[in-house]
Amino acid sequence: MIEIDGAAGEGGGQILRTALALSVATGSPFTIHRIRANRRRPGLMRQHLTAVLAAAAVGRAEAQGAALGSTRLTFRPRGIEPGRHHFDVGSAGSATLVLQAVLPPLLTAEAGSNLLLEGGTHNPFAPPFDFLDQTFLPRIREMGPQITAALHRPGFFPAGGGRFAVTITPVRALDPVDLIHRGTVRRCFARASVARLPRHIAEREIDVIRSSLAISDDQLSVEEIRNSAGPGNIAILSVESDALTETFAGFGRRGVPAEAVARGLVSEAKEYLAADVPVGRRLADQLLVPMALAGGGRFRTLPPSRHTRTNARVIRRFLDVDIAIEPEGDDNGAWQVVIKRRSSRPGAPDRA
Ligand code: AMP
Repeated sequence: MIEIDGAAGEGGGQILRTALALSVATGSPFTIHRIRANRRRPGLMRQHLTAVLAAAAVGRAEAQGAALGSTRLTFRPRGIEPGRHHFDVGSAGSATLVLQAVLPPLLTAEAGSNLLLEGGTHNPFAPPFDFLDQTFLPRIREMGPQITAALHRPGFFPAGGGRFAVTITPVRALDPVDLIHRGTVRRCFARASVARLPRHIAEREIDVIRSSLAISDDQLSVEEIRNSAGPGNIAILSVESDALTETFAGFGRRGVPAEAVARGLVSEAKEYLAADVPVGRRLADQLLVPMALAGGGRFRTLPPSRHTRTNARVIRRFLDVDIAIEPEGDDNGAWQVVIKRRSSRPGAPDRA
């Protein structure tokens, strides 16, 4: 039984989701204690509980401790169940994060899957649907599986009620991929969306993005969302290069001026543009699980977040892989992440 300390390193929900995904993918049971100990409200919140139940459905698993507020869980998978699944967070908790817990084992399952996910789709501290669709899933397609996502309705905090579908055609084994060179930045484009809020919020965000990054008007848009359950605002800035499209998000919050939301997002994008790397900070932590399951991969990225370092530690508990995270050393701010299988036993769980 693999034992995971949920308080180690970053100490958030990702430790749990990575453990769930890799437990199902490798068939290794695990137990986790001190779940989300570094968060203001520790233990399983709705999003995490939904992730546990989703992984239990996909992994035909027995889950002890699967209750709201629980800080301890024992999870024993008994196979992989592809096919139709419907997971509903039942609050504004992020449904894109629930996907993180179930997608990896389904990529190499024996049959395809159709997933319907409900909850938040554009949450702070989680991948917005746009990031999933235009940044993360295309990297998974490069590893072999066919995978598409369709947004039916956005869900914002606090009302939630968003919904999206994901279709997966698996492969026998994932291909390792390299993301070393960004190549030329072809274009930057941005969209600011408001749901049940004044249009000027989105217009002011677009004004800041236009003037800070000199983006032409035909690459900028304002969207008024009419089908969401509650109000919300998000500004999304995309950087399309030869290698990939990176997605940066700013989330409107009560009491935070639209200009400040946009400035935060612009400074993240500027750091990425200046570093001349293909992989941004969020994509970096999210690529580790699929690359480790592929048994290899390499990418250049920004200085690693605690999420990235912590995720690497959890992955090494389940898979016999080396994950090296090192600065390039020539003061360009770039880091390299190199993932390599250690033994010839594919996906062999590390029980040490
Ligand atoms: P945790 O804080 O442990 O629940 O993990 C949050 C996850 O959401 C990590 O994988 C982050 O990379 C991801 N994430 C947070 N904010 C964004 C964002 N703006 N765009 C993409 N991914 C994000």
